[in-house]
Amino acid sequence: MILLVKLESLDYKPKPIEQNFANDEANYPVTGEHNNHKVRAEGKERMDADGKPYPTKFGIHGTIVGVDWEACIADGACMDVCPVSLFEWELNPGQSGTDNDKKLEKGTPEYEKYITDKCDPIREAECIFCMACESVCPTLAIKVNPE
Ligand code: SF4
Ligand code: SF4
Repeated sequence: MILLVKLESLDYKPKPIEQNFANDEANYPVTGEHNNHKVRAEGKERMDADGKPYPTKFGIHGTIVGVDWEACIADGACMDVCPVSLFEWELNPGQSGTDNDKKLEKGTPEYEKYITDKCDPIREAECIFCMACESVCPTLAIKVNPE
């Protein structure tokens, strides 16, 4: 029910993460680093599932565990299932899981910037490739790349 409310309240339509993002330098160039992982395509305008520009331009965080921040709607499912507690909320540091995201109020500068909290793969090197996060993500925002 929480998920439905979140999806319905969005005025854009998240689409699945590009499966080949880590090898697509043209569309997903490395633009920075954050919490010991690479960030790709930050600052680039990208299209949602309806072909309209996403309201955010954060790009994809992580390589071993890539999370498309444009598509992440902060429901927390990936965090709940990850056996190695690899993820953390960007706006609520030290916290993870359903309902522990920072709730953003419409009209505030933080809302305009983020729309929802974002799932950060802060310990991607610890991934054991169980693929549970990929399976549960309601917007298919995660792509795990086993090494
Ligand atoms: S594949 Fe498994 S261990 Fe790796 S981030 Fe996803 S849930 Fe965690
Ligand atoms: S990456 Fe997917 S499962 Fe994880 S918080 Fe974001 S929307 Fe939910």
